[in-house]
Amino acid sequence: MPKAPAASYDGYFNTSPECWSVFTEVIGVEFGDAVVFAAAHQLTVDAYAVQHAGGPHPDRSVGIHLSGLHLALEQGLPPVKVARRLQAIGVSVTASDDGWPHFSPPPRRGRATVLEVALAEGPEDHVRQVRAWAEEVWAAWSEVHEVVARLVSRHLA
Ligand SMILES: [Zn+2]
Repeated sequence: MPKAPAASYDGYFNTSPECWSVFTEVIGVEFGDAVVFAAAHQLTVDAYAVQHAGGPHPDRSVGIHLSGLHLALEQGLPPVKVARRLQAIGVSVTASDDGWPHFSPPPRRGRATVLEVALAEGPEDHVRQVRAWAEEVWAAWSEVHEVVARLVSRHLA
């Protein structure tokens, strides 16, 4: 993204203020449309978080959002139903002795980004772009798919 002096970001995602501002724009669109929100919002959050692993991004967050992609893309859970499961997984892992595994980001994290979603033409295209982006990001993390599946099944009993 071109450098924007007004953009700012003080969270822990491994992102730039400019990229973060595109993400918040996309989130804004999703909060303004109930259908898009239900079909896409959780996928957007999970794909964005996982694509911005590394640096100060804590293991807990990367683990949670990988679990979200697993539930939506491998188990076919509707995105709107993912958040409650993630909450349960978070509580269980944090209370367990094993704690959060560290997931090293893959060298490539998918070519698509949140920018494609920001440029979507209408609600249907928005949902389609989110899905394509999330699937690409998830595929880039293929080396950890099994570990994530085990983590989810153990902590979602
Ligand atoms: Zn970015």
